[in-house]
Amino acid sequence: MSRHVIAVLPGDGIGPEVTTEALRVLRAAAELHGFDLDTTEFAVGAAGVAEAGDALPPATASGVTQADAVLLGAVGHPSLAAAEGRRRPEAGLLALRQRLGAYANLRPVTVHPALAHASPLRPERLEGVDLLIVRELLGGLYYGQPRALEPDSAVNTMRYSVAEIERVARVAFEAARGRRGSVTSVDKANVLEVSQLWRETVTRIAADYPDVRLEHLYVDYAAMRLVANPAAIDVLLTENLFGDILSDEAAVLSGSLGLLPSASIGDGPGLFEPVHGSAPDIAGKGIANPIGAIASAAMLLRYGLGESEAADAVERAIVAVLSAGLRTPDIARPGEATLGTRELGERVAQAVLQGNVARV
Ligand code: NAD
Repeated sequence: MSRHVIAVLPGDGIGPEVTTEALRVLRAAAELHGFDLDTTEFAVGAAGVAEAGDALPPATASGVTQADAVLLGAVGHPSLAAAEGRRRPEAGLLALRQRLGAYANLRPVTVHPALAHASPLRPERLEGVDLLIVRELLGGLYYGQPRALEPDSAVNTMRYSVAEIERVARVAFEAARGRRGSVTSVDKANVLEVSQLWRETVTRIAADYPDVRLEHLYVDYAAMRLVANPAAIDVLLTENLFGDILSDEAAVLSGSLGLLPSASIGDGPGLFEPVHGSAPDIAGKGIANPIGAIASAAMLLRYGLGESEAADAVERAIVAVLSAGLRTPDIARPGEATLGTRELGERVAQAVLQGNVARV
């Protein structure tokens, strides 16, 4: 029987609540598909600061590199909102991504037909939405030097090397091959030199993928396209800051931040986490939607462990549970009955084990 090692980083706020449910579903998938999971928990974010005075404690930094994949909840705590340096929970996440060499962030966005009411867009605009955002994660303004905050001015630097653009572009073209065969590359090449290099490099890499269509969009137009005609986009490839903004815009289409998963992949073990943050407003209430974390576990099975049949089983179970009308409060219609985080996690795990949509 094969055995996979997973580092589990529950983090802060609702992170531990949704991670428990993702693990429950992972264990069900492992049981059904005949592999072993070896899980070890590590602290990150405010939990890391409480444990070791560091948002990415040394034990966590070394533990993650020994795993086959990393499952993360969320980081962030109001008491540390003004903290600096390694005591800032979000700094722990940036350090973790760097530590794992995770240069490509993958965020799929789909709209479940039964949840179209939760989206701010009209239902007809949502038909056929199935897009994947591939965001460069280790370069651009977030890391570029020089950076400085002075009394009368401030500076950040957007810098990309050809090699950084090439490697993330290849992730997007490979992903498009397994999907609808189209890449939309987003930049601001009419204004920024760094975007001109981005466009040139992506165009050159596209020659290695003649079966994939490539189009280039300016980021302002891409922001409009995402709400005007999101179904027309298959894989959207972009740099770090544009990707941060566009992926949150795209997340709104699905109706709740609580539904969406992400994978960050690169040189080391992949990092899998829901798109949402630690949601301090609902932490501890047992009402957080665990679907984003569970869908991240499905991505972990597919991209982190190569267990694609188990990943399919988890994704089918999510659809089955949502189709059966089971909801946490964030996606329920007014007056509709709701389940808590744990109950919804249990129903998805049951659906995985039964492998039968009719009996959810
Ligand atoms: P958030 O995603 O935590 O919450 C935004 C809103 O969405 C809140 O009303 C929240 O209740 C709701 N929400 C989020 N996840 C939900 C879920 N699973 N089920 C139901 N409702 C859900 O974003 P925020 O409030 O801007 O940030 C809170 C903290 O999280 C901050 O410290 C921030 O820095 C951090 N954060 C962390 C990550 C991460 O760990 N990757 C991402 C974003 C924000």
